[in-house]
Amino acid sequence: TFTAVVIDQVDGKPKGMFRQLALTDLPDHDVLVEVAYSTLNYKDGLAFTGAGRIARRTPLVAGADLAGTVVQSRSPDWKPGDRVVVNGFGMTETEGGGYTRFQKVKPEWLMRLPDGFSLEQAMAIGTAGYTAALCVLALEDWGAIQPNAGEVVVTGAAGGVGSIAVSLLSSLGYRVTASTGRPETHAYLSSLGASGFIDRASLADKGGALQKERWAGAVDTVGSTTLANVIAQTVYGGAVATCGLAGGADLPATVMPFILRGVTLLGIDSVMTPMAKRVRAWDYLDKHLNRDHLAAMTSVEPMSNLPALADAILAGKTRGRVVIDVTK
Ligand code: NAP
Repeated sequence: TFTAVVIDQVDGKPKGMFRQLALTDLPDHDVLVEVAYSTLNYKDGLAFTGAGRIARRTPLVAGADLAGTVVQSRSPDWKPGDRVVVNGFGMTETEGGGYTRFQKVKPEWLMRLPDGFSLEQAMAIGTAGYTAALCVLALEDWGAIQPNAGEVVVTGAAGGVGSIAVSLLSSLGYRVTASTGRPETHAYLSSLGASGFIDRASLADKGGALQKERWAGAVDTVGSTTLANVIAQTVYGGAVATCGLAGGADLPATVMPFILRGVTLLGIDSVMTPMAKRVRAWDYLDKHLNRDHLAAMTSVEPMSNLPALADAILAGKTRGRVVIDVTK
């Protein structure tokens, strides 16, 4: 048997707990993966604590990400020894996830890990990092941002998505302003390439429908009034990639920036992204993500620490990315 983190009902509410599982407890999917690492995303905090309705059936192995090695495969696409990553595809929602030594997954969920990344680095990136890449690619594809022209703001900058977005954008030559509620992270964010800061409190209160134009582009992980203000401060023809709700799922905005400034709101989902787009995002990370930045923003924690880590990420107290060592 091996230890896994399972979401199950406690007094009628979903909650994470440690359980001993056997291979026979895993779902009947075609590829058996020995998991090396998983990761801690905001969603994992919501799922583990039950603070958000993430697990839609229980019991369910938690963890939205996994990186590991194929052990057995009934699919011709995968063979023992292949280094693989799974991000999302319903893991910790409707499908068993990565907080376990072994997991069985569908062949079409697996992505071959680029040679340029170790399994640990793959999970330092995780859903958060690959989502940051999807955001940057969406802004570039839309044509909203160009290196050395205009400012790009990243909200929730010291978090996981935020840290990778700051690093990636700065490495690509964009001028990055970091919005954070933690002044003590300024030196850290500068080391990732942020060239300016705004206090997240300055974006938190409801503001005017059209504010002074400032951002050519934005990566927003916060939602709510923060996102509404970012949209209202986006320049004519600019775009905002929205991927998160760390500050709330509402959007108290008006249509004015869209209809008077041609601002675009780009929605980013990482869970059901088609494989070709995932491969593109991971290749982009392989090409552009500064490995020293990645190391500086990452801590590796044993899976046994998950109860404390889940509380910490929901309280906005983790910095950068947390890799989960599922062997400990
Ligand atoms: P994280 O590491 O906890 O980062 C979130 C950051 O948001 C925090 O570090 C904090 O940054 C800021 N924040 C937290 N609470 C806040 C509040 N009440 N008001 C304003 N700012 C607050 O989480 P993450 O894993 O990077 O995920 C970030 C968000 O993206 C989450 O909402 C997550 O669900 C979402 N997400 C979505 C997708 C998708 O597929 N769309 C994929 C990945 C993540 P500062 O301390 O710097 O202010």
